[in-house]
Amino acid sequence: MNTTVTNKIKEVLSSSKKIVIVTHKNPDGDAIGSSLALYHYLISIGHEVTVITPNDYPDFLKWVPNENTVLKYDNDVATSTLKIEEADLIFTLDFNHLSRSGNMEGVLKTSNATFIMIDHHQQPDDYATYTYSDSEICSTCQMVYHFIEKLDDIDKITPEIATCIYLGIMTDTGSFRFRSTTSTTHKVISDLIDKGADNTSIHEKVYDANTLSRLQLKGVALKNLKILSEYNTAYITISQKELDQNNFKKGDTEGFVNLGLSINGIKFAVIFIENKGESIIKISFRSKGEFSVNEFSRNHFDGGGHHNAAGGRSYLSLPKTVEKFISILPSYKNVLNQ
Ligand code: 5GP
Ligand code: MN
Repeated sequence: MNTTVTNKIKEVLSSSKKIVIVTHKNPDGDAIGSSLALYHYLISIGHEVTVITPNDYPDFLKWVPNENTVLKYDNDVATSTLKIEEADLIFTLDFNHLSRSGNMEGVLKTSNATFIMIDHHQQPDDYATYTYSDSEICSTCQMVYHFIEKLDDIDKITPEIATCIYLGIMTDTGSFRFRSTTSTTHKVISDLIDKGADNTSIHEKVYDANTLSRLQLKGVALKNLKILSEYNTAYITISQKELDQNNFKKGDTEGFVNLGLSINGIKFAVIFIENKGESIIKISFRSKGEFSVNEFSRNHFDGGGHHNAAGGRSYLSLPKTVEKFISILPSYKNVLNQ
C-alpha cells in the first residue's frame, strides 16, 4: 500500500462511517481472523462496523472474539442486504474477485460504497477504489497488521485484535511452516504475543477441536488415498455417502489434502469431495516447489488461489472428475518430476 493510498484511506477513516467487512464463501481462519481484527480496530476508532460472511463456517472458528456478531448472508439475506446497501465503505478481505462472495455477489455489485480490498491472492480484479494486494504476504491477517501499522495505530492493537491476527497467520502458514512464512511474519507474531495473543490457547482451540466422527472421516480419507508415483502426485476422494456415514459437519475435511503432501517425495496433492447439495465436486490442490496449482486449477477446474494452494470445482461425477484429472497429468510430467 503506497503513501498516496494510505493518506486517502486515512482521510476516508477520519470521520465516522458505516462500514461492512465481507469475506469469501466458506470463510477460513484467515478470513474470519482478518475480518474480526479489522472490525475491532475500526470500532475502536469510532466507526459502525458489521462483518458479513456469505455462508456459515466451521465450529473450530466459533470462539474468535466477537465472532457471535458476524452476519451470515445465506442465513439472513434481508439484514445483510440492508447493511450492504447502507454502507459508506465496504472492505473485502481475503479474496480478490467478487464471484468469490457467493450469493452476495449481486448486492455487492450494485452497491455505491467505496470498496477497499485487502488480500494476498494472485491476479486481483479491479473492483475496489483502494486495493492493498500482495501475494508475497502469507495471510490477509498479516496484511491487516501492516494496514494498522501504516495508519500509525499499532498501539491500538488490543489482545482481541492480536488474537484474531494470530489466528489467520497460524492457519494460512500451516502453523508457520509454509514458504510464505518470513522473518517479518515471525516479528509480527512476536509482537502479537506481546500484545496479548495467547498462542497455546489459539492452537488448542483450532487444532484440538476434533470430534470422533471427524477423526473417523480422516481414516476414510487415508484409506482412499492413492499415489500416482509417475507424477509424484497423491489424491484422495470422499463421496457424499462417506461424508454422510461419518456425520460430516462443515470444516471436517479441512487440512485433509495435506495428508497426501506429507508423503515422502509427493509434490502435488489433491482432494476431491463430493457435494450433492451443490451438485459439484469441491477440489483442493496443494503443491511443493515449482508446480503452480493456481494455474492448474484456473486452466482445468474453474478455480484458483495461490501458487502452492488453490481450490476449484468440477461439475462431472466423482469418478469422471478423477478420470479427467488423471488424463491431464501427463502434460505436467516434467514439472512434477523436477
Ligand atoms: P481451499 O483448497 O482451502 O478451498 O483453497 C485454497 C486456497 O485457494 C485458499 O486461499 C482459497 O481462498 C483459494 N481458493 C479456493 N477456491 C478458489 C477459487 O475458486 N478461486 C480463487 N481465485 N481462489 C480460490
Ligand atoms: Mn488467506
